[in-house]
Amino acid sequence: MFENIVGHEEIKKVLSNAINNNGILHSYLFIGEEGIGKKELAKEFSKAILCTSEEDRPCDICKACREFNTNNNINFSAINEEGSAIKIDQIRNMQNKIAEKPMNSNYKIYLINDVELMTQEAQNCLLKTLEEPPEYIVIILITSNENKVLNTIKSRCLKLYFNNLTNEEVKNILENKFGIENTGNSFLTAVGGSIKKALLIKEKSSEYEQIDKLFDIIKKENLVNFINSASILYENKDDIYNFLDYINILLENKMKEDTYSASKYANCIFIVEEVKKRLRANSNYDMSIDYLLMNIWKEINSEGSSRY
Ligand SMILES: [Zn+2]
Repeated sequence: MFENIVGHEEIKKVLSNAINNNGILHSYLFIGEEGIGKKELAKEFSKAILCTSEEDRPCDICKACREFNTNNNINFSAINEEGSAIKIDQIRNMQNKIAEKPMNSNYKIYLINDVELMTQEAQNCLLKTLEEPPEYIVIILITSNENKVLNTIKSRCLKLYFNNLTNEEVKNILENKFGIENTGNSFLTAVGGSIKKALLIKEKSSEYEQIDKLFDIIKKENLVNFINSASILYENKDDIYNFLDYINILLENKMKEDTYSASKYANCIFIVEEVKKRLRANSNYDMSIDYLLMNIWKEINSEGSSRY
């Protein structure tokens, strides 16, 4: 079951056992980083619960599955943030609908995405349903920040912790589901097991390639040319923290490849971190990037290591 979802083997086992042994609980809490497949698995699990096939659920053939796949299964609803929060009115609406029995099914399922965005009132309101759910109700809560979920809610749910995907799993998903190939190690490390991040980076792949290039030329070009080649950093203020994280990963890889200069690259990581601090403290943007490029260039092109 759930073969089409990569990774999360333990959790898939728990959920398929629940389906096969009629052990479906009223409330689940899926916890883990963004972009690793929590929502996808929650939907497959929901589809399997509603599927009317005798075996191999979800079958993707029965009426319930077909309706599910076209977002028309009335026994399944997803609740997402409105504006930047999930508000108490949305939960009250849900509760009104929960009172109505499912149609042509033994179950009715609600999936709440990004539970960390629920207001305190909304969470307290939801608690009432979790405390006394009608027998046919299954509620799946999804969060990437468990700390923002009330303990009283957590204690009512079966908590399932999702691990980040491995680089191998990310590679597999990108190739098979998105047709993205040639994912190098820096790239896979940069995405840190998140498909969402991988797609974001791929969308901006030409920008990331320009950053790769900067590190190809850093030893060949003089400081002025190096800085002139770095317009990508000056012009993309919105992405700068992602770019800086990416630079750190490049530096870490270089440390491994070139152990002789490892301490220089390590010093560069300190410089990157210093620049992040300056930017967070609202230092002048261009000057912070100047500082970054100048100091990294000097460090890499220095005779020995300057700091130690
Ligand atoms: Zn089915």
